[in-house]
Amino acid sequence: MINLDIQKLFAFKDDYAEDMYPLITASIIDSALKNSNFNGLKFLIDISSDLESLILDILKTPIEDLLTKYKIINEYFSLSMLIYKHRYRIENDCKPLHTIERTEWRRKYIENIRIQSQFLINIDDAEVQRCVTNTSELNKLVSKIKNALIELNKELDSIIGYSIISEDKESNEEARMRDKIMIRLDTEVCPYCNRNYISKFTKNKKEYSTGDLDHYYPKQYFALLSLNLFNFVPSCQICNSKFKSNIYAEPINPFQKVVNYDELYFSYSIKSNSTLKVFIGESLDFELEMRGSKEYDSHIDLFRIKELYNSHKITISEVLYKKTAYSDSYINSINNLFDEMKLTPSERDLFLYGIEMDESKFHKRPLSKLIYDLVVRN
Ligand SMILES: [Zn+2]
Repeated sequence: MINLDIQKLFAFKDDYAEDMYPLITASIIDSALKNSNFNGLKFLIDISSDLESLILDILKTPIEDLLTKYKIINEYFSLSMLIYKHRYRIENDCKPLHTIERTEWRRKYIENIRIQSQFLINIDDAEVQRCVTNTSELNKLVSKIKNALIELNKELDSIIGYSIISEDKESNEEARMRDKIMIRLDTEVCPYCNRNYISKFTKNKKEYSTGDLDHYYPKQYFALLSLNLFNFVPSCQICNSKFKSNIYAEPINPFQKVVNYDELYFSYSIKSNSTLKVFIGESLDFELEMRGSKEYDSHIDLFRIKELYNSHKITISEVLYKKTAYSDSYINSINNLFDEMKLTPSERDLFLYGIEMDESKFHKRPLSKLIYDLVVRN
């Protein structure tokens, strides 16, 4: 919902890859020593025999470029996406179609799965035919591919996966990479919800972060991308663990998609039984809404934005009260005072409303988009 500057990722990517590369090399060697049947490494070598460049690319190349550069990564990504979306697609895309269209749609869907899973398993013509006409056969096929993918992902996770830096190794320096990434990305408020702070703290002279490092593409399905810098989104624990987890959804990636704030904004509506007390902060009898084009619906639904923001009615009421109470002459005298003190208009807004009316700073204060919209757009 809040835009973050992708240049932060580009500025960090080389340092990140330099820190991570030795950890991955050590983990590959460690796993090779323990495990003779080593499919994860075989899979990487199938992608490219230049392992060093491949690992660096997996760590620091934007995902779209990675898919263009490596055919097998593209197939892996497409297959993971199909499996990840499976239930949603079958239930939603099939429903409105007539029988003939549904059969045709299904045939294309299964052909897609067949092509994209070539690197993993073989599907013969008879199996395709069975799946086109029979939903339980299709579900069986999807389960078979899903299990094969889970097995591959387990192996990938042990050599180039997030477990290398996960929290259960907190005593190790490796585990602190998560905090290093969070601190370097320097995001003070969760970009998914713009409600909760992501704070830094120091323990034994080391910096830590209270936030979660969300995988935009979940690591359970996309283990190969679980250490790709461009797959990370700093977020609050509520958005990451409670709402997003592994449910299929298409939230807005704050680094990748620039939200047009004119097309997505909060507004409030007075109810028929509301009183004028709403405008002087003495009644909460109004409804907060989020207006926006359809492309933002899944984000708003996934993170329960509308419901949760309606729990901030006291803040909303205070803003509405300030809007009514600040007369032109009051604002003029504040402006004159701030001019004398050589303070900027932005510092004036901070004094009046508690936020800077600057869209590029929404990631610095909770509820800043809400307050901005109430003051500027309503
Ligand atoms: Zn959040």
